[in-house]
Amino acid sequence: MKKAINCPICDTKTNIVELKITWGKNTKRCFCTACGTYFIWPEPAKTAVYDTKYNEYFHRPGDARKAGIMAERIAQMIYQHEAGHTILEVGCGNAWTLWLLKQIGFDVTGHELSEEYALKIAREKKLDMLYGDFEYTVYNNEYDFIYAGHVIEHSWYPKDWAIQCNNLLKNKGYVYIDTPTLEFYDGRLGDYKHFRTRNPEEHAVIFSSKSLKFLLEKHGFKIQKTTFEQNYHSVQILAQKVENE
Ligand SMILES: [Zn+2]
Repeated sequence: MKKAINCPICDTKTNIVELKITWGKNTKRCFCTACGTYFIWPEPAKTAVYDTKYNEYFHRPGDARKAGIMAERIAQMIYQHEAGHTILEVGCGNAWTLWLLKQIGFDVTGHELSEEYALKIAREKKLDMLYGDFEYTVYNNEYDFIYAGHVIEHSWYPKDWAIQCNNLLKNKGYVYIDTPTLEFYDGRLGDYKHFRTRNPEEHAVIFSSKSLKFLLEKHGFKIQKTTFEQNYHSVQILAQKVENE
C-alpha cells in the first residue's frame, strides 16, 4: 500500500500537491495547500552535513552586514520587551551575531550541530557553545531569549525543534525565528532560490507565515510580532513562551 504523505506542520494528508522538481533522487517535493508549507518527503537516508567546511563558507561580506543588523535588532527587541539577558543562538554558524551581542553586554551561548566546529568557535571567539542534535540533546540551561536565523528550515523534525525551544526557555521567554518563505515568490516553484541549496536536500521545510505561526502556537507560544524581508524572501516571528500553569 502506498504510504500517505502528511504535512510535517499541520498533519493534513489530503491537501498535499507533489511538485515537479527533479532535485534529489529518492525524495519528493511537496506543498501543503492547507497551511502553505513546502517540504521534502521522505527524509533522505543521507542528509546534509553541517561541518566546519559548511559553516566557513558563510564568511562573505554580506554575512558580516547581516550579523550587524541582527545583533542590533535582537538587542532592541530585548530592551523593548524587557526580556532577560541570557541568549541562546541555535545554529549560530560564524557566530558573528552572538559575538556582537556579547560585546553589547548580553550573556550569550551558541549552538552548532558539529562538535568539532562548536569547539573551534568556543576556542577562537571565546564563546560558550553547545553542540549536538538540537531537537534531541539534553541541555540543562534556561534562557530568556532564543534566536535562530535560517536554521529551522534545515530540521527534519520541526515540531520537536519548536518543543525544544519551549523547554529551554524560562517562563515568558522569547523565541525569534528568521526563515525563508515562499510568500513573495511569483515565478515557477522549480526555479525558486531557496530550493537551490548546495546539498539539494538542505531545506527540509519552507514555511509560510501561517504555518510558522501555527507551529509556534501549537507548542506553547504566543505570537508577538511578524515581519517580512522581501529582499531575502524571509519571514521573522517573535513569540513568547506562554507561562506554565
Ligand atoms: Zn500543512
